[in-house]
Amino acid sequence: MSSFIQLAVNVPSIAGVFDYSIPEHLLGRISPGHFVLAPFGKQTVQGVVLRFIKHPSVTQTREILERIDPDPVLTSSQIALAESLAELSLSPLAAIIGLFLPPGWNQQADTIFDIRDTNLESANIELSSTASRLLKLLQSRGALRGRQIDRHFSKVDWRKTAQGLVRRGTLSSQSVLPPASVRPKYIRTAQLAVAPESAETAMDDLGNTEATRTRRQKALHFLITQPEAINVSWVYAESGCNAADLQELAERELILLRETEIWRDPLTKISDQSMENREFVLTEEQKRAWGQIESGFRQCAEGKPIKSFLLEGVTGSGKTELYLRATQEALRRGRQAIILVPEISLTPQIVRRFLARFPGQVGVLHSKLSEGERYDTWRRARSGALKIIIGPRSALFAPLPNPGLIVADECNDDSYYQSEPPFYNAVSAAQSYARICGCACILGSATPSIVQRYQADVGENLRLELTQRITSEPKTELAKGLDLPPIHIADMREELKSGNRGIFSHELNEALAFTLKRGEQAILFLNRRGTATYVFCRDCGYAAKCPRCDTPLTYHVTAGEQLLCHRCGYQRQMPKRCPECNSGNIRAYGLGSEKVESEVQALFPKARTLRWDWETTRQKDAHEIILGHFAAGRADVLIGTQMLAKGLDLPRVTLVGIVLADVGLFLPDPFAAERVFQLLTQVAGRAGRSSLGGGVVLQTFVPEHYVIQAASQHNVKGFYQHELDQRKRLGYPPFTQLVRLEYRHPDPVKAEEEARKLAAKLQSQMEAENRKLLPMIGPVPCFFSKLGDDYRWQIILRGSDPATFLRGRLPDHWRVEVDPVSLL
Ligand code: ADP
Ligand code: ZN
Ligand code: ZN
Repeated sequence: MSSFIQLAVNVPSIAGVFDYSIPEHLLGRISPGHFVLAPFGKQTVQGVVLRFIKHPSVTQTREILERIDPDPVLTSSQIALAESLAELSLSPLAAIIGLFLPPGWNQQADTIFDIRDTNLESANIELSSTASRLLKLLQSRGALRGRQIDRHFSKVDWRKTAQGLVRRGTLSSQSVLPPASVRPKYIRTAQLAVAPESAETAMDDLGNTEATRTRRQKALHFLITQPEAINVSWVYAESGCNAADLQELAERELILLRETEIWRDPLTKISDQSMENREFVLTEEQKRAWGQIESGFRQCAEGKPIKSFLLEGVTGSGKTELYLRATQEALRRGRQAIILVPEISLTPQIVRRFLARFPGQVGVLHSKLSEGERYDTWRRARSGALKIIIGPRSALFAPLPNPGLIVADECNDDSYYQSEPPFYNAVSAAQSYARICGCACILGSATPSIVQRYQADVGENLRLELTQRITSEPKTELAKGLDLPPIHIADMREELKSGNRGIFSHELNEALAFTLKRGEQAILFLNRRGTATYVFCRDCGYAAKCPRCDTPLTYHVTAGEQLLCHRCGYQRQMPKRCPECNSGNIRAYGLGSEKVESEVQALFPKARTLRWDWETTRQKDAHEIILGHFAAGRADVLIGTQMLAKGLDLPRVTLVGIVLADVGLFLPDPFAAERVFQLLTQVAGRAGRSSLGGGVVLQTFVPEHYVIQAASQHNVKGFYQHELDQRKRLGYPPFTQLVRLEYRHPDPVKAEEEARKLAAKLQSQMEAENRKLLPMIGPVPCFFSKLGDDYRWQIILRGSDPATFLRGRLPDHWRVEVDPVSLL
């Protein structure tokens, strides 16, 4: 075995890998995936062993220092996935590996600064204001770590100053690696080590004082009654003895003291009696799909590569049942399964079904778990104790020894994309991981994304279709044959013309009245994304667009009322009159859910309303509480935003009102149309989920828009075709790849300068190398041009492979996103 290894060091800004040697005391104890400590520059850092190497790339290798955990933290398949993700996403490998590390383990080296020369005045040096602030801080607080100091110096580069002070001898600095913040949880147990009779004979001689003897006797008596090892805290409670007493009894070999590792199991809190656990005879459609999936498993077993399955079926068509079967098949073959869902708290049904079907074998990863709970789930997955991991996108990185199935339910959901560095898309990562593991991958959705559909059309994925709902309840005459609720378009231009200046059209008003009268429930949906910046004419529906690139202009109040194109930077004054119909009714749109709620209350004083939006869900468990109230019939009208689109099952809802469908349609983003279409179809699907039937009223100022037309007719194929044509014409995915480069800076001038500089540099490099990329978009301010204190600018590269062009020349301090899901 070679004694050289390649190490990915855990320093986020470091993209490369480094060669090290294994010191004598660790020879034979290191393998790929091990988590180790190693010297790096002047620091000690963590690192993951990637592989053994025969010949190190440097003559003088340094030795690693220590092995942190006896078991590898990454399997070899996970190492392969990490390397491929880093390569494709242009992210530093260390940052990607950080995704795989157990919770609480990822620690970056830090530096402790302290004052060395206490007699500052004697030094007689002139201090900059930063230096004197820093010294004051350290004087009052004592030694501090760099990240603690950061909190006192926003936007000030104090580190340079600190290094200067270290050189002068005023400060000392020392590199440290904080310890991992979670550890396995142990409990101490006690157990009788001898026969009860021997314990009884020992009773008289247990200590020098009466009190001591009594405590120890009580403890021993109690342990005589206990058949098994028991938590020491019970012994303390029962006998009044202390740890020293038990220690003494153990030394006399009367009892055994042990440390037992325990698992913090979040599922012990969920005990649900009503878990359904039936296995069904598959429907004809399910059988067909299952045949394909099953043969996929056989091919995998023979070591043949297979394609991902795109399981396309409306809600209630039996997809989950197929996930359950596939999981069973994976387990039968001695492998494990990863089930990805958009958000656990919104998908309790799927979790319950897995728990019921596979009791004791399921680990649920959940953002609300404590770090300790997540760590334990991680370790149980690694040890093979858990066969199934369910969770959001990060669950993909659970260390299962040999995954045989990866499912991504509602695979079109935006939450599969991590929009903070390291950027990654869990659905495409799932597909890569399945290829690496040689296992089945099922992407399920009622409304797959344009790109996912396209992949199926060109044969990269294998499409499986479930076209019918499996309804157990018989439907009323009205609802028969109407699997999907009818959608009525309310033209808000006409409403205005007829003098209705309210939020609700006559149609929605009447439908609400009717629903409330029958004691049924209604949902009112409000799309909040980009609300206040949508500028349009209320008389003709005209939306202001850029004359150069046809991108919708957005409204900014800074520097007077301005309209701005986020594609080319074009600007104009906010028009006073509509250029199309000359109406003075052109303005920005702004409407919140509070406003909708008060309108409902004004119109229907008896209606009980409930709001479900960002504001009302900040509290822990708010989702469950609000939904619980509504499902239990304690409210008649639920008013909410995006969250309403998720896979809820609310049988008493017979009316869905879409307050303004156009919002979001005119955002300067190539993915805007798709996002709105998805939302509208999903929200509409909330109506008529039961035998009561139901309908949707969709309010709009642009009834003729292709998205509104397609959504109102449930015309998924039509929308898809139109959108594909559009993307092809404009040069967007799936016909090109996009890379977004984003720069953030608190100084707007600096942000713009930096963006222009990089754009010019990239432009000249592309020309010099004769790269065949489409014209870059930008540099322009992002649509959300300010985030916190920072101004944002972006450059978008497009072409068949812009990522390759950027590889090896990534600009420092830029956020680089390959295949972004939004350009806002
Ligand atoms: P989806 O995941 O597409 O929403 P589900 O798998 O949840 O669909 O199925 C919808 C309902 O139909 C569930 O209550 C499920 O238990 C039931 N179901 C699924 N498959 C069958 C079947 N073959 N026979 C009878 N009922 C079924
Ligand atoms: Zn007009
Ligand atoms: Zn433009």
